[in-house]
Amino acid sequence: MGRTGSCQCGTIRYEVEGDSLALVFCQCTECQKLSAGIGSYSMVLPREALRIVSGEPRSWERSSETGARNRAWMCPECGNRIFHENPDDPAMIRLKAGTLDDAAALEPDALVWRRSAPAWMQAPEGVARFESQPTPEEFFAAMTLFQGRAQR
Ligand SMILES: [Zn+2]
Ligand SMILES: [Zn+2]
Repeated sequence: MGRTGSCQCGTIRYEVEGDSLALVFCQCTECQKLSAGIGSYSMVLPREALRIVSGEPRSWERSSETGARNRAWMCPECGNRIFHENPDDPAMIRLKAGTLDDAAALEPDALVWRRSAPAWMQAPEGVARFESQPTPEEFFAAMTLFQGRAQR
């Protein structure tokens, strides 16, 4: 199963092969800034699943509260984020899944940082939710609980 996506101006185009390991809708204040909205989709994928087919993304890096490095790759023309990675742990990436051509068909496995979500936004039934950043153990425990519907 392949998916395609692009930045807003079309300079960056990419293809994704294989299945998402998890799709998280994050509502932390950083994701609100980067999306200029109420949050951001991160699709967790093995690095080799993503192939950039046109354009050369540029990068910008910051450290999270825990000290983990977060390198963002974006379009050099329109600035649209394409994916994030931790350069110290390069096997996995977090595709900014709102740039997928079929983004409207996506259903998240988990909502994180509900603490900073707007009060009017209801969380849908049957989706794992976390007030802040779950530990990997908490996250995977919730994924197992919701496994039935997480398959796609
Ligand atoms: Zn662009
Ligand atoms: Zn976030």
